[in-house]
Amino acid sequence: MSTLPSLFVTHGAPTFATEPGLAGAQLRALGRTLGRPQAIVVVSPHWMTRGVEITASPRPETVHDFGGFPRGLYSLQYAAPGLPVLASRIAQLLQSRGIAASLDSRRGLDHGAWVPLMHLYPDADIPVLQVSMPFDTDEAKAFELGRALAPLAEEDVLIVGSGSLTHNLFEFRMGDGTEAPYAREFAAWIRDAVLDGDVERLVQALERAPHAARAHPTPEHFLPLLVAAGAAAAVLPATVLNGGIRHGVLAMESYVFGQRIALEVEEVEHA
Ligand code: ZN
Repeated sequence: MSTLPSLFVTHGAPTFATEPGLAGAQLRALGRTLGRPQAIVVVSPHWMTRGVEITASPRPETVHDFGGFPRGLYSLQYAAPGLPVLASRIAQLLQSRGIAASLDSRRGLDHGAWVPLMHLYPDADIPVLQVSMPFDTDEAKAFELGRALAPLAEEDVLIVGSGSLTHNLFEFRMGDGTEAPYAREFAAWIRDAVLDGDVERLVQALERAPHAARAHPTPEHFLPLLVAAGAAAAVLPATVLNGGIRHGVLAMESYVFGQRIALEVEEVEHA
């Protein structure tokens, strides 16, 4: 069995669930091309805890952890099963690297996990677990969390860091949808670092990339990219899924670390 690549996915706004656009079509094509892993492990900034926690419910519920969006979003369900035995295995892996980890048998899937998975694996028939991001996660710890999860990729488990390549919520809420050039510039800088396989540049991006403070007023939606990079056996070859800019300020860009994939994107509709 070959080692799976790892993914960074931009989960965008919750409306991404029902308005897939180009980025959704790209994720759908990616899922078709990757085939079916045994399980999927997602790290999302919408589950932050003291120490690392791992979902261990056999039937994780779909958590609608957002407010002020259209009512239809709150009835969406992503009914993927859990896999408690894998949760225990992940806890052991983390503990063997000195990372305290515990199981949460009640926690469901937050929208950082299920929104992109609705496009990536729409049948919801592959077990999904979440690994939380500790409150004190910084760039180095995010990368190390990815390194600790990396052995799972050799066991046919797909590791997904779910965040947002740009994430300025104030501008998202207050903007008029006009494209802000900084989002494209920040995304281009990150994309270049990804395609160069330059992990050091990625780890330092929030200090070095143009407009980083505006693209990420807080770091939590960037850190899953570093988890994904850490989880890859090798960052290169990498694949870029450039879904363009949505809502003026959200760079809908995702990456595959460790595999170059030619995507056949169908049903492209521009947002
Ligand atoms: Zn989010």
